[in-house]
Amino acid sequence: MSKHLFAIFGNPVSHSKSPLMHNLAFQSLNFKGCYSRYLLKDGSQLKKTFLALNLQGINITVPHKEEAFKACDELDYFAKKVGVVNTIVKKEGKLYGYNTDAPGFLKAISEFKNIKKVLFLGAGGTAQSTAILLKEEGYEVTLLNRSQKRLEKFKEQGFKTFTFETFTPSHYDLIINMTSAGLEDEELPAPKAILDALIPLSKACVDVIYGKNTPFLKLCKKYQKPTKDGSDMLLYQGVIAFEHFTSHQYSFDDIKNSMKKAFIL
Ligand code: NDP
Repeated sequence: MSKHLFAIFGNPVSHSKSPLMHNLAFQSLNFKGCYSRYLLKDGSQLKKTFLALNLQGINITVPHKEEAFKACDELDYFAKKVGVVNTIVKKEGKLYGYNTDAPGFLKAISEFKNIKKVLFLGAGGTAQSTAILLKEEGYEVTLLNRSQKRLEKFKEQGFKTFTFETFTPSHYDLIINMTSAGLEDEELPAPKAILDALIPLSKACVDVIYGKNTPFLKLCKKYQKPTKDGSDMLLYQGVIAFEHFTSHQYSFDDIKNSMKKAFIL
């Protein structure tokens, strides 16, 4: 029997851990699949490329998640609500779109108990889907961003939003760096004076950047707060995507345990 083909589309895409994660899971679960990466420069070519490569499923990363949403024939409830798709599966010739980033993130923060008030630092694409899901799950989400423009959409959706100029630090249970500050530089996501006032009042801090001890995480550790990076979010979004790719025939924990090896290789 020939293998089912999968890929991640993005630009850049060379750094992605997804091929390793999914291929490890195919191998240990004995699923006849093969997962590769594809540098997609022009997002408008997403559907055409998907079909031409005879793929069964793809993940989509920066900057094509909105184009992926547009390319789908069918969307699940949550993808439709957030307008952002990171997983597409072909079934009977139709493209079905899902968002697994937000449920992956929700699962990643579930280890922190008694969390109600959450502060997001940043207001980009990742914040968009995760804020909506957290709100649905009963969390109270506030957004703090360095500039106003991206906050407008959140404001319209009923979130409390602040820029550094309008913000007064107070108690939040969980503080999350959802910016790219610290990803390829050594910057903090907000002025240090704000973070020095915020972090000591919090119960825990999370950075969605993975595999790096970012300046934000270092500062949180200095205040002896429980912390975690974005590795679990990455792992869980992958597990949920894999469930869609393989029609839910394996257990979450079996997929997770085989994918986890990608983080120690
Ligand atoms: P976007 O480009 O959509 O948004 C970037 C956000 O970061 C904006 O709010 C921007 O503010 C802010 N920002 C950028 N640089 C700085 C800075 N130096 N100081 C303060 N704020 C800054 O990015 P995404 O939402 O797609 O990604 C955000 C982060 O999430 C990235 O680091 C990415 O790697 C990570 N990520 C992790 C995943 C995982 O599985 N662990 C999955 C997806 C993303 P402004 O509006 O003012 O420009």
